[in-house]
Amino acid sequence: MSIKNEYLNGLMDRVIARNPAEPEFHQAVREVLTSLAPVVEARPEFIREGVMDCLVEPERIIKFRVPWEDEKGNIHVNRGFRVQFNSAIGPYKGGLRFHPSVYEGIIKFLGFEQIFKNSLTGLPIGGGKGGSDFDPKGKTDLEVMRFCQSFMTELFKYIGPDTDVPAGDIGVGSREIGYLFGQYKRLRNEFTGVLTGKGLSYGGSLARTEATGYGLCYFTDCMLKDAGKSFEGATVVISGSGNVALYACEKAAQFGAKVVAMSDSGGYIYDKNGIDLPLMKRLKEVERKRISAYIDTHPEAEYHTGCAGVWQIPCGIALPCATQNELDLQSAKALIANGCFAVAEGANMPCTPDAVDALQAAGVLFAPAKAANAGGVATSALEMSQNSMRFYWTFEEVDDHLRKIMTDLYHNASDAAARYGTPGDLVAGANIAGFLKVGESMLAYGIV
Ligand code: NDP
Repeated sequence: MSIKNEYLNGLMDRVIARNPAEPEFHQAVREVLTSLAPVVEARPEFIREGVMDCLVEPERIIKFRVPWEDEKGNIHVNRGFRVQFNSAIGPYKGGLRFHPSVYEGIIKFLGFEQIFKNSLTGLPIGGGKGGSDFDPKGKTDLEVMRFCQSFMTELFKYIGPDTDVPAGDIGVGSREIGYLFGQYKRLRNEFTGVLTGKGLSYGGSLARTEATGYGLCYFTDCMLKDAGKSFEGATVVISGSGNVALYACEKAAQFGAKVVAMSDSGGYIYDKNGIDLPLMKRLKEVERKRISAYIDTHPEAEYHTGCAGVWQIPCGIALPCATQNELDLQSAKALIANGCFAVAEGANMPCTPDAVDALQAAGVLFAPAKAANAGGVATSALEMSQNSMRFYWTFEEVDDHLRKIMTDLYHNASDAAARYGTPGDLVAGANIAGFLKVGESMLAYGIV
């Protein structure tokens, strides 16, 4: 796919040459530069003043050793990362991912996406991301605690409530955030809002747990309404069964939809009667079991191994909420053939580029991740505000803010798409609207 601007095409070639063997990062940059071609045609100063070149180069990458000892006395050495990509509009903000697939390219792709997502929320937060190739699965609480303490013993030097505020992501939930925050507090001897997604007893925000999944449904609801459709009575398929997936399931059901399938990395559950959410939450949030355990108490449901098969199930709305590139062209074709009318990305970049092209060409409503899943980071920013004020808002207050932010975000992306000649294309609209605020700020600062 060539970018319709000669300078940006050359820039893309340089990104590939300077960041070899990082296909996810290339994919994320290409999508954004493709959308920004009409913007730089109208505003050539973004190229002339070096904004585009700076945009694709992280301000800073921190890479470090994370040694820890397991319960049997064996020593392990993992790798930790923090990419501080862009602080033009606020302190770096973005999650930490603990998963064996993590390497520098994954963190760079996520950090790059985060710049535009954070800008889209309308809140003053820059883009960053971090993580480790550590796998919390199968580890004891003590081992996870030791790992988190070792990770923070290095990371604490580079973060702070006005500098960089990490949060959770895949493999980093409330348990990990607790260990990380405890270690930061011990090392700095200060109690500040340096992490978000904290427990309610020590500075967390109500509704942060629900925010990404709920926000995804608020955004999708706006997109559906604009097209004269709704969640009401629709059949929904969701991939994943983690934080985003569980609360997307909850809100979709509250909007009157029937969620019939969810998955994990081993396989998927199809329950034609509708997913039993309290059971799913218990299995995943409390007992940390595989999704296959669902059929122990629901023998009428089906369990299938292999997570990609979930997209073969007929549905009106598909919400990919697991991981990057999990929904490919073949899956997109199956969704289209089965009458799917909307796909909204809860995970970061879950649809491959050819899948997105196929869905859009078939007239399927498509909500890109950096807009649709921005509710999590938006609510993290609300947690930062509450921490700064030393104050708490009620669940309803935070949820009201979230719904308004997602509604504004939808209109902002949709208006930008129309203004730059691609009405209805929320991929282009989100990239353009997210970029403009960051680009204007970078122009204002001059070359540094
Ligand atoms: P969790 O760790 O809570 O859940 C991840 C889910 O995805 C699990 O069900 C996991 O299954 C599944 N999964 C992970 N890797 C794979 C894989 N390679 N193939 C298939 N399934 C996989 O993470 P979150 O719910 O927090 O995050 C999910 C996605 O949403 C990520 O892309 C994340 O970046 C994005 N996101 C999260 C936000 C948040 O607030 N949490 C905010 C914005 C985006 P298993 O348990 O078997 O590994």
